[in-house]
Amino acid sequence: MTSTAFRDRDELRAALDTWLSSHRPPDLDHSPVARFEQLRQWQRTLNEGGWLGFGWPEEFGGRAGVWAEQAAVYAQLALRGAPTPVGIIGLQTVGPALIEHGTRDQHEKYLRRILSADDIWCQGFSEPGAGSDLASLRTVAKKTGDGYVITGQKVWTSWAQYADLCAVLARTGTQDERHRGLSYLVMPITSVGVEVRPIEQLNGESEFNELFLDSVAVPTDAIIGTEGGGWRVALSTLDFERAGYAISRHADLAVAFDDFLADLPAPSSLPLAELGWAAIELETLRAVSASAGEALEAGNIGARSAYYKMVTSQLEQSIAAHMLAMTEYSPIDWATHGDGLAVAQNSYATSRSATIHGGTVQVLGGVIAEHVLGLPRAR
Ligand SMILES: Cc1cc2nc3c(=O)[nH]c(=O)nc-3n(C[C@H](O)[C@H](O)[C@H](O)COP(=O)(O)OP(=O)(O)OC[C@H]3O[C@@H](n4cnc5c(N)ncnc54)[C@H](O)[C@@H]3O)c2cc1C
Repeated sequence: MTSTAFRDRDELRAALDTWLSSHRPPDLDHSPVARFEQLRQWQRTLNEGGWLGFGWPEEFGGRAGVWAEQAAVYAQLALRGAPTPVGIIGLQTVGPALIEHGTRDQHEKYLRRILSADDIWCQGFSEPGAGSDLASLRTVAKKTGDGYVITGQKVWTSWAQYADLCAVLARTGTQDERHRGLSYLVMPITSVGVEVRPIEQLNGESEFNELFLDSVAVPTDAIIGTEGGGWRVALSTLDFERAGYAISRHADLAVAFDDFLADLPAPSSLPLAELGWAAIELETLRAVSASAGEALEAGNIGARSAYYKMVTSQLEQSIAAHMLAMTEYSPIDWATHGDGLAVAQNSYATSRSATIHGGTVQVLGGVIAEHVLGLPRAR
């Protein structure tokens, strides 16, 4: 375990509270673009305060400590109503994969800028015909004299409209080679030939985008890992994505649950079975989250991240469903009791995607069966 400035998590939380008392989080703007810039600035402030990069190489802007301390920072920020960092894909997903597979020059080039929010990253893996079966993807990176030219289409690329860089998984080999023919490339989103089209959701927001890539030139050192070795880098990116979600989701849901209950009359006016189950499942989620943190800290989470992600996503959906059921089966006049109804509805709607992003629950079941339990591969 790496040394850290804090004796224990309580000391870390107290220090963050003290810091927050003199560093006010922004009042977020209604416009998504303005809000994003406020959040970028807030991440910068957090980084300058020393609250990001726990366990990252210190020579590239990281700080001593372990992942679980970073998770404790995110949890405490959520508890205090302060936004967590907006560059979460870089911090939690792509960054750790770069640390594992990138060269020293790539660490120098990218890591510091991830922490400071100078570079916001997105992840260009999924395609219209390749989600769960990622190894069948068709975006091509063709080798040229001094780099690669990328052509193809990506979809569901979260936050690409605000991103600076995209981690693109593309085919440098043949279609028949499947995962052995893939490479992992860094592509600036403002490159000539990149078109980002936001997908408008039912709630009017646009988390996702389509990416159209038309002969986008990137240099040779855009490859992370080796040419044709992109699958390994993609798998560790997904491991970190799944583990990061499992570690951080408990805090967000616990805060939502507190908000849900905040302005209600006595709990006896709520359906008690639903209330009880929600509380039990939140406690279970706390234990799952802590266990995922320990596994990550021990440096051997690997395919077990699929297990933590699967359990977390199912608990998230169940807790949100209990909250929604409480709004349906209680005599409370929700219009006169704060934000409880909105919190329940929003948590429920958000939770539906939990069993899809970062690998669907069915696909994770296959990963767990094969790579954690050692069962024969499904035909
Ligand atoms: C909130 C959110 C954010 C996302 N962000 C990103 C992002 O930033 N970048 C990115 O690249 N992608 C992103 N995605 C896409 C995500 O990775 C895919 O949606 C996911 O991998 C599933 O692929 P698909 O949607 O094509 O579904 P499909 O693969 O078509 O699956 C459809 C159904 O078939 C089932 N199925 C498929 N194969 C099997 C199998 N072998 N065994 C059993 N069942 C199977 C699936 O479980 C699912 O129920 C995001 C998705 C969501 C919901």
